[in-house]
This record gives sequence, structure tokens and C-alpha cells, in this order.
Amino acid sequence: MIRISLRTAAVAVTAVVGALPLTGAADASGASARPVPTGPGALMRNPLYATGAFRSSACTEPARRADDLGSYRAYLDDLLGCLRRAWSEKFRQAGLRFSPPRVRYITKSVYTGCGQFMASYAASLYCPANKTLWIMLSKEELSDPRGFGLFTVVAHEYGHHAQDRAGILAEFERRSRTLSGKRALDLNRRIELQADCFSAAFVRSVWSSLARDRRDWDEWLTADEGDMWHGTTRNIRYWLKRGWAGGGPQACDTFRAPVSKVA
Ligand SMILES: [Zn+2]
Repeated sequence: MIRISLRTAAVAVTAVVGALPLTGAADASGASARPVPTGPGALMRNPLYATGAFRSSACTEPARRADDLGSYRAYLDDLLGCLRRAWSEKFRQAGLRFSPPRVRYITKSVYTGCGQFMASYAASLYCPANKTLWIMLSKEELSDPRGFGLFTVVAHEYGHHAQDRAGILAEFERRSRTLSGKRALDLNRRIELQADCFSAAFVRSVWSSLARDRRDWDEWLTADEGDMWHGTTRNIRYWLKRGWAGGGPQACDTFRAPVSKVA
């Protein structure tokens, strides 16, 4: 089973494939780490929710140049280092093992392991089947070296990788196989809105080091038009603001949120 949900307005793309046993993965660290949570607790009582805010840290954005792939790669390598440091600490605090995703920079449509990633989708996709963050550096993306969208989309997709490492995606997949229609969409939105919340919490932790201002935040808040897979525009804003205000995964338990907040 393959379920693909697309973020509209040329932002994120998420693909999630079925049946991915995640236990027993060979991780780099933590022989004493607790097992990856399974069952309802993976969603409702995930140890990540007990870890508090991300520590404030520096993550300056290296300059990019239009149509210069090398400068974009350097920019993203830097961002991925920031995300790795931030999430590694959260997993350590949660007593869970963490390993970063594989990363592939692409410039045209490819098969990712989670379906075809079209250049027209733009931005980024996380494929749990191969733990890979696919980042599309399309002509359009390369023409906007000042934009903030790439930063926030990669932070969102990295949030899906954190969900994967924390057992959240595996439980999501298990449940999804028994759900259809509205209930399946409800669960999909809880996954997506949590990734939004995670991304805003991370961005808050590095905000003071970024040369960004209120306009960038406002643009982010208004970038995404909602859809039935990602939630209403209003709820996307709600979870971005909640992640920002809370500053960490503890603010992002979308699985216990009322239906109205994940509509
Ligand atoms: Zn997503």
C-alpha cells in the first residue's frame, strides 16, 4: 500500500509506504536506549513529548546563489547539521536511539522508494522505506536563493524522520491499514500537523541566529493552503503557532488533540 499526500502551494510532499518494521534497525548509538515505542503509546505517550523545548542554538543560513547547485547543497548541509543536533538531543533526552536520515539532492523527477517524486511537487519528501530525505532542487527553487520555504519544508520533512525513529510512523502505518475514509484522513492529518508543529518548534530554537524577520514568519504561516490530508489552513497555522510557542515536541501531541484541531 502506498499513500502519498501532497502539500499544495508548492511546499512539502510526504510519502508514506506500508508495512515497515522498524525494530532492530542498526543505529549508531545507545546500547542502553529504550526500545522504540509501539502500539497506542507510540502516538499518545511517546517519550519525545516528555523532553521539553529544543535548546536555543545557532543555525546561520549560508548564502545561496541563484542557479548555483553547490551553494544550495552547502546551505542544506548546514541546515541538516542543525536539525541533526537538535533532534539528537531530544532523542537522547527521551532515551531513544537516533540516527539521521540519508539525504539525496535531486534536480529532476526520480523514483524514491515511496513512489515517483515529480519535480513539479517541489521541495522535499521523506521516504520511511529507505529512511531518506529527498530534496528537490528544481529550476524554480534555484531561482529563489533568498526564500525561506526550503528551510521550513526540510524542517517539516525531518520531523517525519523523527516520527519514524520514535515509532510514530510505524504505528500510523499499522493503524492506517485498518482505517479508511474519514478516519484514515483524520490520522493522516495528525501526522502532518505534528510535523508542522515539530518544524516550528525547531525553527523557534534557531530563530535568533537567522537573519529573518516577521515577514518570513507571516509568509510561512500563510504559505500552505490546507487540504484534506494536511488539515485546514486554520489548523496548519494553529499547530505552527503552537510549535513555535512551545518550542519542542511536548507541544505537538496531535494524537490527543480534539478532532476540531486536526480537521
Ligand atoms: Zn508532511
